[in-house]
Amino acid sequence: MIGIGVDIGGTFIKLFVLNGQGDILHTDQLETDHAKGAAGCIAQIGDFINRIKKQYAGQPVAVAIGAPGDVDNQNGILRYNPNLKFQDVTDWPLAQQLYNYTGILPRVANDATLAAWGVYETDLHRQGTNVLVVTLGTGIGGGLIINKELYQGSNGTAGEIGHMKIENTDAAPRCGCGARGCLEAFAGTIGIKRRVLDVIKQYPDSELAQQVQTHKDFKIEVVFQAAQKGCKAALKVWEDTGRYLGIGIANVILTLDLDTVVLTGGVSGASAYFMPALQQVLQNQQIKTPFKKVKILVSKNPNIGGVGAALYAIYHAQRNR
Ligand SMILES: [Zn+2]
Repeated sequence: MIGIGVDIGGTFIKLFVLNGQGDILHTDQLETDHAKGAAGCIAQIGDFINRIKKQYAGQPVAVAIGAPGDVDNQNGILRYNPNLKFQDVTDWPLAQQLYNYTGILPRVANDATLAAWGVYETDLHRQGTNVLVVTLGTGIGGGLIINKELYQGSNGTAGEIGHMKIENTDAAPRCGCGARGCLEAFAGTIGIKRRVLDVIKQYPDSELAQQVQTHKDFKIEVVFQAAQKGCKAALKVWEDTGRYLGIGIANVILTLDLDTVVLTGGVSGASAYFMPALQQVLQNQQIKTPFKKVKILVSKNPNIGGVGAALYAIYHAQRNR
């Protein structure tokens, strides 16, 4: 059995080919060609799949695709995605078009959902029964494993933890989705940068303030590096980030009585600085039982989206044989 995992992003399409043992056989990375629209993207992915099919002729090949945004996982349709700048991307029948191109009907799911499956297989080795995986980056995504199976909800949109409201006022920061007060508006990289600009007003002589003044278009790594040097302003930014993440994660633990939460994505690299505040929020909950044994872990695998898609393709194909 060969599994092909595709991770469609705004900048790159990442492709992973795995065998039934979970070994990575090939990887590729294509630039997302926005000018050619959805049809160009189908051709890019379809040509890759056809090449792999030919190379492993005689072996069954299964495909799964992780796409950012609102995915109809039953019908393989990307309903809506603000990050892909294709003109013709609304209600895009991705699975059917790829089937026409390759003869293989792929599974299609939200990218954070398939990343969650990747974490469940590679980091947790399917240990844990009820698991939340939080992807921390520009956006905040979430995927759920419930009773050891991927849980995608009634419409395929389960796990959208980034758009959970954690502040309900007119003054709350606006999220990329258009609403105010979403977790992502506080703890996604855009939200973190916004808070950096506030915090440096209180600490105008700090290392962080100097770095931000030097690099107007600063990257989130600057906040990490300043924290490493003990900068109080940067440490405050991470402490607040941990508190916001803690509020969001506590709400999911209260709802689903999870045993494991795994953080992944670029921002999780700063966990040493935000984890104490996050844990504090969990410890301060009034209802204690669901928080007593829950494990909060960090995944170090940077390619978990594409690898997770390939592993899910194999898992799904074997289960439905
Ligand atoms: Zn939002």
